[in-house]
Amino acid sequence: MPRESKKARIARMHQEYEQLCVEIPDPKCALNFNSPFELLVATVLSAQTTDKRVNMVTPELFGEYPGPAELAAANPEHVEDIIRTIGFFRTKARNIIGLSHELCVRFGGEVPADMASLVSLPGVGRKTANVVLGNAFGVPGFPVDTHVIRVTGRLRWRSDWASPSPDPVAIEREVTACFPPEEWTDLSHRLILHGRAICHARKPDCADCPLNDTCPGAFAA
Ligand code: SF4
Repeated sequence: MPRESKKARIARMHQEYEQLCVEIPDPKCALNFNSPFELLVATVLSAQTTDKRVNMVTPELFGEYPGPAELAAANPEHVEDIIRTIGFFRTKARNIIGLSHELCVRFGGEVPADMASLVSLPGVGRKTANVVLGNAFGVPGFPVDTHVIRVTGRLRWRSDWASPSPDPVAIEREVTACFPPEEWTDLSHRLILHGRAICHARKPDCADCPLNDTCPGAFAA
């Protein structure tokens, strides 16, 4: 493929995103939640495990511990028992109890709606904060997970697409610079859903991909 100008790349990104909007008209967060607190806890639990597994444990967890005050006072071993089927359950139990305590002590029992405060909580990184901002508060957020990293690389939506260790913060900065903030949350959802359904990690289904006419990584991934 001849070298693509920045202008041409951005035009292609918009064209490909329009296709993704057709493919995935109504993207939604796959984690079940009824409040910012529930989404924050569910997202912390979802690291390195599937959303489906998290959705299986959160009804019991939130049934017993409906808010930060209750979870902050929880017996860690009982929380571990409830979330035992998900990966890293001991560390995650410690983190969700710890972040609940911090919410009570520093934020009046409420989940803060800004990046700096969110990432100051135990177990909360930029990706989790962006999920909460975008899906619980309607604040533009672009979570960069493994699917977003892979799909934006194959599509050459980012300049470090060939890097073996791409920087999620740089990806967030580079991709969001090309789209209006009101699209960021849905853009991330669509890239994740496209990665799960078609642009698989091991064997992308390029033959059936609606982006295969323009994707520079088609059939080469
Ligand atoms: S054409 Fe292939 S590599 Fe490109 S986005 Fe589609 S599935 Fe992924």
